[in-house]
Amino acid sequence: MTTKRDYYDILGVKKTAGKDEIKKAYRKLAVKYHPDKNKEAGAEDKFKEISEAYGVLSDEKKKAQYDRFGHAGIDSRYSQEDIFKNINFNDIFGGSSFGGGGGFGSIFDVFFSGGMGGARRAKKGPRRGSDLQYRLNITLEQAAKGFEAKFSIRRHEACKACNGSGAKPGTSSKTCPSCGGSGQTQSARKTPFGAFTTVSTCSNCRGEGEVIDVPCEKCRGTGVQSKTEKISLKIPPGVDNGTNLRMHGKGDAGEKGGAAGDLYVVINVKHHPIFERHGNDIYMEREISFPLAALGGDVEVPTLNGDVKLKVPAGTQPETVFRLRGKGIKSLHGRGTGDQHVKVRLRVPKKMSHEEKILIERLREIEGSEDKGKGIFSKVDQKLKDKFK
Ligand SMILES: [Zn+2]
Ligand SMILES: [Zn+2]
Repeated sequence: MTTKRDYYDILGVKKTAGKDEIKKAYRKLAVKYHPDKNKEAGAEDKFKEISEAYGVLSDEKKKAQYDRFGHAGIDSRYSQEDIFKNINFNDIFGGSSFGGGGGFGSIFDVFFSGGMGGARRAKKGPRRGSDLQYRLNITLEQAAKGFEAKFSIRRHEACKACNGSGAKPGTSSKTCPSCGGSGQTQSARKTPFGAFTTVSTCSNCRGEGEVIDVPCEKCRGTGVQSKTEKISLKIPPGVDNGTNLRMHGKGDAGEKGGAAGDLYVVINVKHHPIFERHGNDIYMEREISFPLAALGGDVEVPTLNGDVKLKVPAGTQPETVFRLRGKGIKSLHGRGTGDQHVKVRLRVPKKMSHEEKILIERLREIEGSEDKGKGIFSKVDQKLKDKFK
């Protein structure tokens, strides 16, 4: 691996340089190193290097990304094409100063349309099919235990009538008369550095180099047919929202014998009425009565694997969280199983039977006599009571 030079160093400007200063520096270097002017060895590489630096530093977003993360921040996000695309000769050289100006667009064309002698990648030959995505909605129980998912997708298959060629059975495609089979057409273009030849994709055959004389009737010459396919996929236990499962070769069919794309099944776990999931842990709330909290006892608690008994100790306070070990979700990556956390809430009855009322009244009497004279709060309480008598 070669170490990339700092973009600011390449253009010979300070980190604090403004837009115009950066542009000026690039213009100077571009005139010096453009391969049409400079025939020295390495001029083309140099030109690419300064253009990449300028492509990044002249774009606010990319510049900010570079300032924060350096080359890694750029390389992980942008291709060279993305970077060169911003560079506009008209903008840099001011259209009129170069013989009318019109006709040259972006530097992107210089590198990627073959202007520098590099031939554009021919499109002919096998092409891999597109990847597809399917969003699968499942329940939390299904996510926890895993299951066999069955669903249907629409995907492109190679046309059976023409075997994917697109030509009517019995006929074949012929060499494109416009480009002679190369898939490219050439034209002379004016640029700030003089005229040079631009190679572009042939519009007649869209770069294929071949055209179909009589299109297949079944697929109208496309070579593919859209078909509904039933898919059966084993969902492993532990999947969560956003889990991506790849099914090799279940995307669209390739063209001209190219491999099929892949199908990505993205998991979406539906909201659960009782349980909430965080990682592999499950959270829920359970109401208990005051006598149970005070005296202790067992309560039934639902889990993803059925009801279990939870021991509530005497004197349990509201909002206490109990942990049921191993009652959460099994890790998708085989690293153990989560827990279930049960938060208890105290149930205050809204309606009571006569007997309950008597008992609670009695409880109040006892607590009231115990509270008397215990502190400032009970005194305030008494004052308030007197006030509203
Ligand atoms: Zn066909
Ligand atoms: Zn052609």
